[in-house]
Amino acid sequence: MTATATLEFSVTTSKNRRSDEERARILANPGFGVNFSDHMVGIDWSLERGWYNARVQPYGPLSLDPACSVLHYAQEIFEGLKAYRHADGSVWAFRPQANAARMQRSAERLALPPLPEAEFLESIRQLILVDKAWVPTAPETSLYLRPFTIASERFLGVRAAQHASYYVIGSPAGAYFPKGVAPVSIWVSEHYTRAGRGGTGAAKCGGNYSASLLPQQEAYKQGCSQVLFLDAVHGTYLEELGGMNLFLVRKDGSLLTPSLTGSILEGVTRDSLIQLAKDQGRVVEERQITLEEVQAGMNNGEISEAFACGTAAVITPICSIKGKDFVAGRDDAPAGELTMSLRKALTDIQYGRAADPHGWMMKLA
Ligand SMILES: *Cc1c(COP(=O)(O)O)cnc(C)c1O
Repeated sequence: MTATATLEFSVTTSKNRRSDEERARILANPGFGVNFSDHMVGIDWSLERGWYNARVQPYGPLSLDPACSVLHYAQEIFEGLKAYRHADGSVWAFRPQANAARMQRSAERLALPPLPEAEFLESIRQLILVDKAWVPTAPETSLYLRPFTIASERFLGVRAAQHASYYVIGSPAGAYFPKGVAPVSIWVSEHYTRAGRGGTGAAKCGGNYSASLLPQQEAYKQGCSQVLFLDAVHGTYLEELGGMNLFLVRKDGSLLTPSLTGSILEGVTRDSLIQLAKDQGRVVEERQITLEEVQAGMNNGEISEAFACGTAAVITPICSIKGKDFVAGRDDAPAGELTMSLRKALTDIQYGRAADPHGWMMKLA
């Protein structure tokens, strides 16, 4: 069992709540990351006081001093998870304890304060209690939850945070593939890397993302929608995409995914898919995978499917992998069969359409 939260949350409801009609209009076409619910959660932290001032407050701008550490040294970590509406109207989170634990690891790496699991879970529950109506009901939609912590002190010196603030905001999200799941081409960045040995690759921090934007643009220029990074030491092994983990499927139905070497983000989706595949009796190999092996395998049929995975898209099929002087796979390749069946198996659990043998779902409201 999880510990109970010790912080009391005060609740200040918004005077500017959107009307039922306005909310319905937004939820009919929510997009991703552009609309936000009426409230947010905040919890402050200081070296002297620990975590304090837990609150639900109206969604709105933060007031930050221009000398605030996060603005200068990127002392920021975040999480991403979803609140799912089930057929009976209830709202659930998927393995939020895993997000809480990962956020603690990220905090440690960035010298930010780790929020206890119980407070993390309670913060999400508190937001859903006031903004439950913002969890959409249409198939494959959700309320995307974004917890984040920033170093909020006014200080230009460089040091571990002594004042920090944690927030949770909620953003209704439409179906990721409204026109049906569409395979994507991905571009291998042979010049830029995402994370070095001993760096912050395994932490979910904003800095990793800012460093991925230029290679991401390079991918767009090459007609690809995502960038795939190789390891920084050898430039040989596959790591992951800018914000998604990578899987390959062999023609014998086994799965292959890069092992967690310290520079790859430990995706909750990745971990869950490994479990689901093992439940089906499949072999899942976690090891270092060379780009050469994938090029050859995708072209000679040894590797029959490839996909990326993360909370937002769940699973995105990959039709081709391209680099400066190679193309593996074909742009017109359809989504793989196992890729799609794993996607269905996972989303069926998340939306309460299938049994939950691992106890992954947590009821929020
Ligand atoms: C968040 C993230 C993922 C996916 O993690 P999930 O827990 O499955 O959403 C993968 N890679 C990076 C770099 C990420 O930030």
